[in-house]
Amino acid sequence: MRLIFLGPPGAGKGTQARELAREWGVPQVSTGDMLREAVAAGTPLGREAKRIMETGALVPDEVMIGLIADRLRQPDAASGFILDGFPRTIAQAEALERLLKDLGQSLDGVVFFDVAEPELLRRLTGRRLCRQCQTAFHVTSAPPQREGVCDRCGGELYQRDDDSEATVRHRLGVYARQTAPLLDYYRGRGLLTSVKGEGAIGTIREAIQRAVEGR
Ligand code: AMP
Repeated sequence: MRLIFLGPPGAGKGTQARELAREWGVPQVSTGDMLREAVAAGTPLGREAKRIMETGALVPDEVMIGLIADRLRQPDAASGFILDGFPRTIAQAEALERLLKDLGQSLDGVVFFDVAEPELLRRLTGRRLCRQCQTAFHVTSAPPQREGVCDRCGGELYQRDDDSEATVRHRLGVYARQTAPLLDYYRGRGLLTSVKGEGAIGTIREAIQRAVEGR
């Protein structure tokens, strides 16, 4: 099972990748989470990434390609993975193709999460995340039982710095210019499946399962 979850910020890639990776017994490889861990640890990569992430721009391709090459060479990714947030540019997609070829692997599919822009804005600006388990909540449509506390693990909920309205608008523009061209790239390779990313989380998960099993 080697999959890419592709879509704009706020489309639900992380939420679905976390649950399906657990179910399928493969790692969820989220480059956003990897960068946020580097920021929290204060590593040189974290210091460089922090500045860029705060503006909503993309971290340079060479940095991201190096990061993903190290990650996919780890033993736990040998029998599969769900990529969440990578690739985000054509150069990253081309590098991934070369890397998988070197590893003697190939992609099984790319799932595109189709969500309208007003819904993305609503989701991102109201999003709260658990610091420990990364579970996502929403201030109005999916609030936790106790304000500020994760229902799943009791961790503290926080708002990402880049989920402010101005930065979200910038991130959506970056997505449209730099990442959306990947739809044609993967469609042309016969790998793309589109899933409607609006509705109940469980219904979307079932649609992804059907799409992946149908391949
Ligand atoms: P995410 O958690 O996927 O929304 O990513 C948060 C931020 O991390 C993005 O806005 C980028 O600044 C950076 N980032 C994550 N993945 C990538 C990537 N594949 N290429 C470049 N920047 C990335």
